[in-house]
Amino acid sequence: MITPVLPTYARAPLSFVEGSGPWLVTETGERYLDLGAGIAVNALGHAHPRLVAALEAQGRRLWHTSNLYRVPQQESLAELLVANTFADTVFFTNSGTEAAECAVKMARKCFHAKEQPERVEILCFEGSFHGRSSAGIAAAGSAKMTEGFGPLLPGFRHLPWGAHEALEAAIGPTTAAIMIEPIQGEGGIKPLPEACLKGLRALCDQHGILLILDEVQCGMGRTGRLFAHEWAGVTPDIMPVAKGIGGGFPLGACLATENAARGMTLGTHGSTYGGNPLACAVGLAVIETMLEPAFLPRVRAAAGRFRQGLEGLVAAHPAVFDHVRGDGLMLGLVCRAPVADVIAKGYDARVILVPAAENTARILPPLNLSDAEIDEALVRLDQAATALVTARGAA
Ligand SMILES: *Cc1c(COP(=O)(O)O)cnc(C)c1O
Repeated sequence: MITPVLPTYARAPLSFVEGSGPWLVTETGERYLDLGAGIAVNALGHAHPRLVAALEAQGRRLWHTSNLYRVPQQESLAELLVANTFADTVFFTNSGTEAAECAVKMARKCFHAKEQPERVEILCFEGSFHGRSSAGIAAAGSAKMTEGFGPLLPGFRHLPWGAHEALEAAIGPTTAAIMIEPIQGEGGIKPLPEACLKGLRALCDQHGILLILDEVQCGMGRTGRLFAHEWAGVTPDIMPVAKGIGGGFPLGACLATENAARGMTLGTHGSTYGGNPLACAVGLAVIETMLEPAFLPRVRAAAGRFRQGLEGLVAAHPAVFDHVRGDGLMLGLVCRAPVADVIAKGYDARVILVPAAENTARILPPLNLSDAEIDEALVRLDQAATALVTARGAA
């Protein structure tokens, strides 16, 4: 018999009732060190006092009015995003896939407004993830996500990840945009080399097409800069953001330049909930915290310590781990043992990892975890790996 909750997830036999910083607590009081942060969502950890205060204060005043009216919290958040990024304008959503959806619509509408309506095609990459909407799965293109959901939204073309020449050859008179994650998240924590990101920008400029960088997972401080593309010194035309932006409250955003947004005029797009006062009050508290001068340098320092520790872990357990990859606090342990076993042993050691493609365990902790918590994470990961080796030896 089907469960009351639609059974689309293979859930771990764990549930949590409380959280604080990078710690999650079960009903029976067991404490787990959370290196997944709800898949890069709880960027400031659980129950951050500033976020709780923002939520409570707004919760007592006003939750929702609709976008038929001005929403001051939304305007303030948009102003902060515009002031601190390439963007001139922002559309707010409730999730990452809606932000990606907005990006796709915006790119097509841009060329419609430029009287090049034939430019509709978005070039995407194998292993990518843009969420589960019809545009999102069409953009990702994998059989796992699209099978049985046809007919798929047309106008997406998929190229092997890192195939420069194939990409250049694929750009034609019907191309509107290239859409890519600066670091593939679901795909297994695969950072696009800086030179590739620069090359993509140059290609887009040369052909007069748009660059869409999906920073839903790698953005909002995760790499030690506010957005991952900043490391390469290039900017996108359109950027879907979500996950960390709400710190756990559902919020997403599609950032864009004025040029890219030129077609998105009155009445062309909307969302009932997107950017409501409650979500934006929390979003403001998140970004204001991240913009404090010491925040991002601390993320970089934490990332250095974690990375170094993980390199040691991999060296100590060559039967379990192959190598570490990623940037900042978006790290992947590429495993030799089955990643599901690594994650299960992690649960036994009370440490939470998140699986991804290519047999990779993701480490996406709260960005503000302490050195002591990093060291504790490394101890627990070492315990998990040791237990796995022992179990495999016994089997
Ligand atoms: C998670 C993710 C999405 C989808 O976000 P949802 O909030 O689950 O809709 C889109 N793009 C990337 C890169 C993601 O990691």
